[in-house]
Amino acid sequence: MKIHFYGSRGSIPSPLLLKNYRLKIKKILELYNQNREKGIDEFMKIIPFDLSHIYGGNTACTVIRDDEMPKDNHLIIDAGSGLRIFGNEFIGKNGSTFHIILSHFHWDHICGLPFFKPIYNPKNKVYFYSPFKDTLKNLRRQQHKAHFPMTFDNLPAEKEIIKLKENKVFNLLGFEIRPILLKHPGKCYAFILEGYNKKISYISDGEFTHDSIIDKEAFYKECFENSDAAIMDSQYHLIEFFNKFDWGHTSTNMVINLALDWQIKKLIMFHFDPDHSDEELIKILKEAKEQKDFLKKPPLEVFQAIEGTYIEV
Ligand SMILES: [Zn+2]
Ligand SMILES: [Zn+2]
Repeated sequence: MKIHFYGSRGSIPSPLLLKNYRLKIKKILELYNQNREKGIDEFMKIIPFDLSHIYGGNTACTVIRDDEMPKDNHLIIDAGSGLRIFGNEFIGKNGSTFHIILSHFHWDHICGLPFFKPIYNPKNKVYFYSPFKDTLKNLRRQQHKAHFPMTFDNLPAEKEIIKLKENKVFNLLGFEIRPILLKHPGKCYAFILEGYNKKISYISDGEFTHDSIIDKEAFYKECFENSDAAIMDSQYHLIEFFNKFDWGHTSTNMVINLALDWQIKKLIMFHFDPDHSDEELIKILKEAKEQKDFLKKPPLEVFQAIEGTYIEV
């Protein structure tokens, strides 16, 4: 099974800035100067991660794929700006069914939908799954004529909205999926997906603090423990979190503690702050791994959701 990340930023799309791009070029050229004898192809292989990658700036859109899943069906969690990139893979194709699970309706989780090309093809189907009772209203509001030229109702694909129940399992494409309420302004839901002998927890836009989970500590542990992978909101450094208390997101330090407590196998940090540069994100990953090693608890692998890549579970 593969978890593909088409967008991993939180809050707002945040493209790589020219000044940061130029800084990367400068560092690569300096490195090349020290390795001229290698030739371009060999040199490309030794460029360190921080210079050979960018984290990407699109907002939340995750796609889960397994070879055993029904053909021409696609399982997507959240429709942030990354959904546009995913949709471009289907240009010129007909007859696909897209199943989009929505955690909530903040812009960064729905703003890709009006630019999702497959929804303009009447030969496709797009199903939306959400525990919110106002799903249709919220999607219509995003495409009010003051904001966008095409209304939601006029989008040509066959569309359907499926209302989920909090904490109740529903079946989809061979998965049993359970929505779990999180602390977040206006509410948000995590989703636990169990199927194909794997357990994946998608926990974006949730604020976990000692106080916020004290009553629900055992419940959350029962929900998420032993996940093969947990995709978790890791928006802030610890210090930032103190300044943004009650904003609905979690610090990387807390995420590491929870992942260890829940005996997660692969923690995938997600929902990056739009103001964190690639360099800061690399530093955050390094610090998270040091924290994990220091605590010497059960084995845990720590990753970040880099746009345009996937993690295998
Ligand atoms: Zn968000
Ligand atoms: Zn949110």
